[in-house]
Amino acid sequence: MLTLYNTFSKTKEEFVSLNPGKVGIYSCGPTVYGFIHIGNIRAYLLSDTARRYLEYTGYEVRQIKNITDVGHLTDDDINQGDSGEDKIEKAALREKKTPEEIARFYEEYFKQVEKELNIIPAHFFPRATAHVPQMIKIIESLIEKGFAYEKNGNVFFDVTKFADYGKLSGNTLESLKVGARLEEHPDKKNPWDFALWLKAPIEHLMKWQSPWSSGYPGWHIECSAMSTEYLGNTIDIHTGGEDNIFPHHEAEIAQTECYTGKQFVRYWLHNRHLLVDGKKMSKSKGNLYTLDDIKENGFSAMDLRLLFLSSHYRSQMEFSWQALEQAHKNIQKINDFILNLEAIATNNFVFSNIFDTSIFKEKFQLAMDDDLNTPLALSNLYELISQANGEIAAEQLSSDSAKKILSLWKKMNSVFGFILQGQAEVPEEIKQLIRERQYAREGKDFQKSDDLRNIIEKKGYTVEDTKDGMKIKIAS
Ligand code: AMP
Ligand code: ZN
Repeated sequence: MLTLYNTFSKTKEEFVSLNPGKVGIYSCGPTVYGFIHIGNIRAYLLSDTARRYLEYTGYEVRQIKNITDVGHLTDDDINQGDSGEDKIEKAALREKKTPEEIARFYEEYFKQVEKELNIIPAHFFPRATAHVPQMIKIIESLIEKGFAYEKNGNVFFDVTKFADYGKLSGNTLESLKVGARLEEHPDKKNPWDFALWLKAPIEHLMKWQSPWSSGYPGWHIECSAMSTEYLGNTIDIHTGGEDNIFPHHEAEIAQTECYTGKQFVRYWLHNRHLLVDGKKMSKSKGNLYTLDDIKENGFSAMDLRLLFLSSHYRSQMEFSWQALEQAHKNIQKINDFILNLEAIATNNFVFSNIFDTSIFKEKFQLAMDDDLNTPLALSNLYELISQANGEIAAEQLSSDSAKKILSLWKKMNSVFGFILQGQAEVPEEIKQLIRERQYAREGKDFQKSDDLRNIIEKKGYTVEDTKDGMKIKIAS
């Protein structure tokens, strides 16, 4: 039984989808004004892991990840996300490009990074700029129903009209009144009201016509517009980093529920932050590493994937190169193990005992069922590796056992999502040469076998003959 920690109830709850067999996931995506950093990757890995495990258990998943290409303002850490400069416009001025060029460039970068991390692409990546009419429609309805008001071309959501405001974050209006440090907008009725639409100053580059002014949407409204558009009024799972809980997700609940009259999200999943020297890694602080930095230091996207999966998404994680080094070693260990198993599987080793994989499968599922506990699932994998390696060392692992373990590995890896060197990157041409060499060795034609080894090595692969068969590696 899959349980997920729901930020809303602050408990682990059994997961039951709204529609049997189907799950809708909405993940807050990147604001495309800079290179995404590895803290962002941690957030996208959470939604990827949730999706992968739901698919593993047989659900059909539909996942939407938005691209914020307008309206996300710079002071959102302290305010309601509606003061300060537009980050994309600021980048456009800095880089002497149009906001659109900025957004497309960084969106591409984000997609490339997701690909390298083997994050399964969302079914759709809607852009905020392409959904302004939907946002206007929701805002009109909120004004009509009395949840929002217009003043001087600006429209705000009136938080006092929504009794449940604060239920997700604990920031109820009562608690917010104490110690609030808000820069008040002169047109707001209450300091915690948040912007749905803002009138654009003359020099503002990105603006749209609306019934209230030529302006642009507030940050939060885009997610309500795009989630209702592509996933309906109620979505099963909404993900994001913990910084999104307030004000962003609190605002999303308020405006969407007042618009639809229905529950907006059934399960709220939030990853805790990736830290550097005890502080949140963030674009605005500049204390960030990108995937390129990771690669320049000799590590791979898969090392990073393993590093992140080694810690539970609800634990804060301090980034360290030492931990990444350990992750690198662990990926190599997994890689070597699988290559070894593949070699054993292609041989014909027959032993009476058959390796029992069922306990490892069960432990894997128990770990993942427990709020996607990937560190526990990985330690179960390491246990499996050390037990099987023991049998290999004792020359007791049969080819059938190797095949059984490989088949379990394939299932487990549909959730871990590792791309292993030996598996994905040995092209068919090399595999053919390997097979020919195997036949040559079996026929004791050692001259041909050596010739084939030379050809394989010239093509950039190393061949090692071990007692468990041939091992092929990409030459480093
Ligand atoms: P942004 O582009 O800033 O809107 O962030 C995209 C996603 O990354 C959001 O879900 C954020 O909550 C998440 N995020 C940002 N910084 C971090 C961090 N240091 N650790 C984990 N998640 C983060
Ligand atoms: Zn969002």
